[in-house]
Amino acid sequence: IPIDLVKFCHNLVEEIQTNAGDKYQIIFTHQGEFTETCLDINLLRPILSNLLANAVKYSPQGGVVTFHLFSNDTTITFQIKDSGIGIPPEAQKYLFESFHRASNVGKIKGTGLGLSIVKRCVDIHGGEISVDSEVNVGTTFTVKLPLT
Ligand code: ATP
Ligand code: MG
Repeated sequence: IPIDLVKFCHNLVEEIQTNAGDKYQIIFTHQGEFTETCLDINLLRPILSNLLANAVKYSPQGGVVTFHLFSNDTTITFQIKDSGIGIPPEAQKYLFESFHRASNVGKIKGTGLGLSIVKRCVDIHGGEISVDSEVNVGTTFTVKLPLT
């Protein structure tokens, strides 16, 4: 079923932002045409909501999270970037396995399931996910989904 992807992402960001008030800011930008995009919302929602929730959760109060959406003829790319605690290199290897949490999470709570769900949904959609992160600098997750 074709969806208006920009509208969908915009609504999702609004939803998360409303719950947070002034604690942090999510900036959503997009490039390209997305009014008739054929993606599965039931896969997309857990992917984006988990990545956005993490970006916010692992950032200091007042942090800014950017969410960029862009496309070419074959692929839609979602990029979620924060300036939070970052992920140590040794933890990056196990990032998508259930119940793995990095050593630098401190008192931030979590079950370690979010990213394993994200990975599953990306796989089912035939896509790819990658991470670029540096401790105390920030983290960028990039998800690429093929347009079929
Ligand atoms: P939950 O199941 O509630 O999502 P969680 O956030 O701990 O719990 P995941 O979302 O699977 O679990 O993330 C796994 C681990 O990866 C986290 O515990 C954290 O160590 C690290 N992590 C994930 N996203 C980020 C991020 N944006 N910045 C820093 N660390 C992150
Ligand atoms: Mg999480």
